[in-house]
Amino acid sequence: MKISGVFLDRDGVLNPHIPGGYLLSADELVVLPGVARAVRRLNDVGLLVIVISNQQGVGKGLMTMDDLIAIERRMEEALAQEAGARIDRCYYSTELASANSPRRKPGPGMLLEAARDFGLSLAETVFAGDSPTDIQAGHAAGVGATVLLLSGGTASYAAGDMTPAPDHVFPALPDAVDWILEHLA
Ligand SMILES: [Mg+2]
Repeated sequence: MKISGVFLDRDGVLNPHIPGGYLLSADELVVLPGVARAVRRLNDVGLLVIVISNQQGVGKGLMTMDDLIAIERRMEEALAQEAGARIDRCYYSTELASANSPRRKPGPGMLLEAARDFGLSLAETVFAGDSPTDIQAGHAAGVGATVLLLSGGTASYAAGDMTPAPDHVFPALPDAVDWILEHLA
């Protein structure tokens, strides 16, 4: 498969999923094991690495946009320090779910926006996330492959659990990166 870019959900993929809550402060950020090295491996083969994240906590007034950007900066520092890894850009939907924004996952809006910004053909991208809404958003955008990771809010997966079904399921991001690197055309 020709792959030019990899979209990653944030919570449950790069940092731990917080059940029923939000990562509100950079001081609480933890990067999951092996993630920095995995991102570095994507960087090293020239794939764009783009984060696509719903952050309704801003819309709810639980945190500010500055808090969200501070978390992003801390993530960048952590990835760089641990493995010299780099994220090319982060996209957030801070709208409330009730606003039904097409940007908010399961809508495809952020993926379409990122593809436009970077001149990516969506068929040449992979979207990896830990929840059904990630798979739905990827499917709606027409990404080349959707990947469910079991490192966050979804602990297990069996056929029929999700509609649409993910194209691939892996324990965590490093396993997905192994697959991506083995299947680059
Ligand atoms: Mg998530």
